[in-house]
Formats: sequence, C-alpha cells, structure tokens
Amino acid sequence: MYDLICKTSTVLPEDVAFAVKKALAREEKGSIAKTTLDIILQSIALSSERGLPICQDTGTVLAIIEGRPSKSVFRLEEQIKDAIKKLTKKGILRQNCVCPLTEKNTRTNTGMHVPQIHFEPVDGPTRISIMLKGGGSENMSTQYSLPHSKLQAGRDMEGVRRCVLDAVFQAQGKGCAPGILGVCIGGDRASGYFIAKKQLFRKLNDKNPSPLLATLEQTILKEANGLGIGPMGLGGKTTLLGVKIGYAGRHPACYFVTVSYSCWATRRYVVELTEKGDIKKWI
Ligand code: SF4
Repeated sequence: MYDLICKTSTVLPEDVAFAVKKALAREEKGSIAKTTLDIILQSIALSSERGLPICQDTGTVLAIIEGRPSKSVFRLEEQIKDAIKKLTKKGILRQNCVCPLTEKNTRTNTGMHVPQIHFEPVDGPTRISIMLKGGGSENMSTQYSLPHSKLQAGRDMEGVRRCVLDAVFQAQGKGCAPGILGVCIGGDRASGYFIAKKQLFRKLNDKNPSPLLATLEQTILKEANGLGIGPMGLGGKTTLLGVKIGYAGRHPACYFVTVSYSCWATRRYVVELTEKGDIKKWI
C-alpha cells in the first residue's frame, strides 16, 4: 500500500502524461497555453525522477478494494491507513485532513471518514484502486437536477450536454485546467458523485461500451476545447483532456447529472494483488 500510494503521489499515470504531451503539440507556438503545458510537463518529469509529489496539494485519498470478502480485507484497511500516515510524515502527502469541529489539522491525513475506503465484493482477485483528488478540482465538482430552466436543459442527452458544458464554463480559471471530467447520469445525490468520480479511473484512450455515451463524450470534449478557456484558464485550445461518462438507474422523479472535475494532476492507479498480498500487476 505504501508503494501504491507513493507512486500515485509522485508519478503521473502514462495516459494522462501522454494527453498533456498531445495537448502541448496542439497549442500555438509562443502562446501562454504552450508555455503552461511545457512547465506542467517539466514538473511531471521532475516529480517522477526525484520521487517528489506531482503537486503541492497531494489531495485526499480514495481507496476502492474489490475482491472476495475475507479477513485480509480488514488488514488492507489498516495497511492503507498505516501507509498514509508514513507517507504524510515523509512529506509525500501533505497534511490534508482538518476536523471541521475543532478546525484542527489531524496531521496524519486520517480522521473521521478519512481516508475514504470502499469495499466491493467481487468473485476474483483482489484489486486496489487509489485516487488522490486535489481540493481545488474537487471544489469544481457539481451536480445538476434536471430539468434546469436557466440552462434550458431537459431530461435528455441534450440536457446532459448543456449541464456538463456549464460545469466546464463555471470552472474556468479554477481547478487547474486542462481537466478531466467524470460524469454520472442518473443515480441519487450520493451515488451520482461516487459513480462520477469512479469514471476518472478509466484510461483516457478507452472507449465507452455504450455508443450513445461514446459519442456524447467526444462531442463534449470537442465543444469544451472549443471554448478557448485553455490550460489554467489562460486561453488556448486545451480545456479538457478527457470526458468519461457513466450512468445509474434513477428514480422516476429525479434526473441528476453529476460532474466530478479533476485537474491535469489526475493521480490514480490500480493494482492486482497475489493471494499473499504482494502487488502482482499494475493496471
Ligand atoms: S487542483 Fe490539482 S493541480 Fe491544482 S492545486 Fe489542486 S491538486 Fe494541484
């Protein structure tokens, strides 16, 4: 767990780094966008070479454990917390957990409901997914209830498109663009946020198995990048690196569209464990 969380904090996943490189190639020579992306890429390389955090905001930890229910699952929870405490002490994770009652920083990155650990029973090998989600980008995550009169968004895919583009528009200059969006159509207020965030684990170059959602992802990506918001909101052709849309059944009276906004520093890894609990492969 120590290796997994440490790598998540210091080495940007290949698909995200590749998307930033592709964005750099697209931007005009001498533009602020090109310079910004160039600095981001230099920073990514330095963090990886020197084993330093990719961003000063090392985020909060989301862990999803999938596997057969067994006693070892409880050991994993302890090991995740242990690893977080050690990495916080080492400075690989910033002290990012404040108790809202006392306003005191717990200084360990652990506290009430922190880290967030979800167990999902699966009849297969144990997989651990870790995400470090920055606070600035989390502030830009949002949820819409359709119909939405201001956006003229109805309960259909066009309404979804309008909401997601509004989220991008509202986030301009905040949340450290170019961003990646995880979206959930449907669900309830709680599941919507979780399912939207889980979309951020998808590789940027994957293809949505639903042709309808695959088209919507591409449409929104193209239109968002046409807004001219650009890296860090300073203008340019790259506002988003990816859009990933999932869905959940909804109550007939509710139609939520939830957007989990992630910054260029989208840090997540998934590992598969051996029966003994060693890392078998990085996914
Ligand atoms: S939003 Fe992302 S890149 Fe910006 S400060 Fe937070 S973690 Fe870092």
